[in-house]
Amino acid sequence: MLVSRLIERKRNDDALSSDEWAWLIAEYTQGNIPDYQMSALLMASFLNGLVPAELSALVDAMINSGDVLRFAAGSRAVDKHSTGGVGDKVSLVLVPLVASCGIPVPMISGRGLGHTAGTLDKLEAIPGFRTGLTLAEAKQQVESIGCVMIGQTGEVAPADRKLYALRDATATVGSIPLMSASIMSKKLCEGISGLVLDVKYGSGAFVPETERAIELAQTMIGIGEHHGCRTVALLTVMDRPLGRACGNALETREALEALKGNGPADLMEVTIALAVEMMLLGRVAENAAGARQLLVQAIENGKAADKFREVITAQGGNASVIDNYSLLPNAACSRTFEASRSGFISQIEPRAVGYGIVEMGGGRSHIDDTIDFGAGFEFAAVLGSRVEKGQAIATVYASDNNGLDVGCAALETAVKFSDEEPDELSRLVSHRIDSDGVTAL
Ligand code: URA
Repeated sequence: MLVSRLIERKRNDDALSSDEWAWLIAEYTQGNIPDYQMSALLMASFLNGLVPAELSALVDAMINSGDVLRFAAGSRAVDKHSTGGVGDKVSLVLVPLVASCGIPVPMISGRGLGHTAGTLDKLEAIPGFRTGLTLAEAKQQVESIGCVMIGQTGEVAPADRKLYALRDATATVGSIPLMSASIMSKKLCEGISGLVLDVKYGSGAFVPETERAIELAQTMIGIGEHHGCRTVALLTVMDRPLGRACGNALETREALEALKGNGPADLMEVTIALAVEMMLLGRVAENAAGARQLLVQAIENGKAADKFREVITAQGGNASVIDNYSLLPNAACSRTFEASRSGFISQIEPRAVGYGIVEMGGGRSHIDDTIDFGAGFEFAAVLGSRVEKGQAIATVYASDNNGLDVGCAALETAVKFSDEEPDELSRLVSHRIDSDGVTAL
């Protein structure tokens, strides 16, 4: 097959066949198609979309590019995936929490993408934590302690690993079929029977519009159900950072506090809502109220934090971090970002916050970049609150003064003030979607 001919057909909005997609993905994974040709194909797919048969072929080709986890028949393994946000440390709280209630969770996560940070980077802020386990090690850990938190090794959907990095560099992330294929190919390698999707919408999401976010959710649900994995989505708002901390080590610390019962209200609301859905899919509770009660108990009686201690130890990390945050990477410098005027905070734009962290070295602009885990922001004021001129809005953390300047400039762009009290904030969790339809909450 001639790659340029396939690109031309896709550019002309022609659907490629299943065999053509299978061939393209296999050849690209093996390094026989160069990035420049795959970039052109991705852009044509981004602009023209994929028909359902193409999407299905792409997902299958990506799954088949690697190996899959297999648990014993009847396993109730369940997972969650977020489409990406700023300050989104939910997985660090959710995985040990749900696993401590008896549900196996084999989570495979990604690294930062664009302005969003990745779960793997937050985990790797913990000294010694290994995210690169083999599938055999991951399976063994789920069977012994109930959960694992790993990244995509060469074994798991390696096609997605390459495509994910390429899409990040070619402005082809925010496409419903490409995101759906990327997320679902990874998740369907986990041997799970149920999946909960946290589909973000709002200015800081890859798909900002509510209607398109619903379409994204329904597309992923269709793929999941087609592969025998019961899939539910919650639409959650990303028009402000989630929680107070943004930046890897700062978020890890906030997640540890959340596991001890001291999480900020917005983080806990989103985490518990997703965890309830996992508990129902994993058949550990009969209804949402019962599930919520078990989850709250697991935080209160320390079972959730203990489970994270087990995960950190099992994956080579220093679990003392749970009691001693000074073991986390700390930034050398900090500066208070103050309100430039009195008024109400009318905007904390997540994209500007996220790109600010990337620029400060807390994210990657290139796949091989090393990360400054300590860089980021800790917000002291939240969207909608009244502040006086000179009041602290956030603390900026960076490795040097230049980084602090970059961080403050990002906050100048991100944070806006108004004289009038802003309208009520959008609901954090706005819709529940499953194969039966969409429910506004
Ligand atoms: N997360 C993924 O795993 N893939 C995407 O394409 C976007 C978010």
